[in-house]
Amino acid sequence: MKVVVIGCTHAGTTLATTIMGINRDMDITIVEKNNNISFLSCGIAIGAQNHIPMSRMFYSSVQVLEKLGVELYMQHEAVQVDYSQKTVSILSIVNQTHLEIQYDVLVIASGSLPITPSFYNSNVENIMLCKNFENGRTIQNYVNRFQNQNKIVAIVGGGYIGVELCEAFSSNNFTVHLIEGDDRIMKRYFCEDITYIAENKLTDNNCALHMNQFVTSVIPSGQQLLIQTTKQKLTVDAIVLCIGFKPNTALFINSAHSQNIILNCLNDSIVVDDFSRTSIPDVYAIGDCACCSFFTDESKSITLATNAIRQAFVAAANICGVVMPQQKVQGTSCTQVFGASFASTGITISESIMRFGNGKQYIYKDEECIVQYVCLEKTLQIVGVQIYSDNAGELIQVASILIHFKSSLKDIIMVDLGEFNLLQKAANTFIFK
Ligand SMILES: Cc1cc2nc3c(=O)[nH]c(=O)nc-3n(C[C@H](O)[C@H](O)[C@H](O)COP(=O)(O)OP(=O)(O)OC[C@H]3O[C@@H](n4cnc5c(N)ncnc54)[C@H](O)[C@@H]3O)c2cc1C
Repeated sequence: MKVVVIGCTHAGTTLATTIMGINRDMDITIVEKNNNISFLSCGIAIGAQNHIPMSRMFYSSVQVLEKLGVELYMQHEAVQVDYSQKTVSILSIVNQTHLEIQYDVLVIASGSLPITPSFYNSNVENIMLCKNFENGRTIQNYVNRFQNQNKIVAIVGGGYIGVELCEAFSSNNFTVHLIEGDDRIMKRYFCEDITYIAENKLTDNNCALHMNQFVTSVIPSGQQLLIQTTKQKLTVDAIVLCIGFKPNTALFINSAHSQNIILNCLNDSIVVDDFSRTSIPDVYAIGDCACCSFFTDESKSITLATNAIRQAFVAAANICGVVMPQQKVQGTSCTQVFGASFASTGITISESIMRFGNGKQYIYKDEECIVQYVCLEKTLQIVGVQIYSDNAGELIQVASILIHFKSSLKDIIMVDLGEFNLLQKAANTFIFK
């Protein structure tokens, strides 16, 4: 069986290695437009901050996959899919030659693209993006070149990525301005008590926060950039845009459209069933380009490497005839801001009210930690947990499992964890107060 995979970062790399682990006789061809595979975007901020070369942020290579028997077309871009004839047209980025590849099974692992506002201009080198190896190298080169020189950087977007970059630049003695459209940073993941701590960590470390405003224009002026937001003007030396990602699916949607074939999508994210199959026979979609099955019983785009890897396992197993359905996900994630650890799983209180029409939050606080539970009112079923604590990254794993198994606040106290941990201590104070 010939499996053709488009894209080779987390989803594509995991799929290929998993298939080869199950059945070495499978015929796999990968088409990747970059000249590298398996880049860890999560290493960009850490690499830039600590001067660790971006070349160390890979966990596989073309050579490793070739050794497994995988055929790779590097620096080739898939440009057209014929779903009826089961062919993919690919274009060499190096010499512009076209080639047509036949498939039995097609796996779309084309990921996501950074959202770029109208003022973004790829020719202005001090307006940077933060997604792939090249972006990582550009950011790192900038930090290396201008550290300790009183340069000013604006980070646009106060999600996880923007916040981590604030630390990377500030630790290298840049003055940092974080511009965020919402009234709080990381608002999608955390309650106010927790984001308040993260915000203080930033302001204590030379990062100015500019909330409730959007950048409307950026005009290059000599070596600098003049930023106009909905509230003020700022002059900076560089900007990094971190305003989110969109599914990289136009090629697959347009190809289907031109052949009158339906590729089910939700906001351009490809809808898949429990086995990572799309609405087109023998076509799978995995990773950032595909929807996840969220624990609230809805399909949604959650662009996390952890999801990409799990979807790749599922698709690989099923392609090899091992029936393995997808599990629902909670969107579990964690981060560190200037030494403080934050983690979140499930939904926030406002999302609970929006989705379920109700929700109750329980906030446990002491000097060193915060645990926030979001529960359904009647049953106390946990639908969200947010943690600020030294071991937030470990505790959130337990919290995610509790949500997965529809546990209630009462269940937590009784579950056998080997130690009475912070999650249990917090729940205990709400139940037995
Ligand atoms: C800065 C940053 C930090 C992050 N931190 C975390 C984290 O801490 N934890 C976490 O879980 N997730 C994190 N993520 C998210 C994670 O990186 C993504 O979810 C993950 O990369 C998705 O993998 P993917 O393989 O689906 O897609 P992508 O990484 O987007 O890769 C898609 C690949 O497909 C290729 N491609 C696309 N179109 C074509 C085409 N037509 N022809 C050929 N090749 C094509 C691209 O070149 C690319 O290599 C982070 C992301 C960023 C940007």
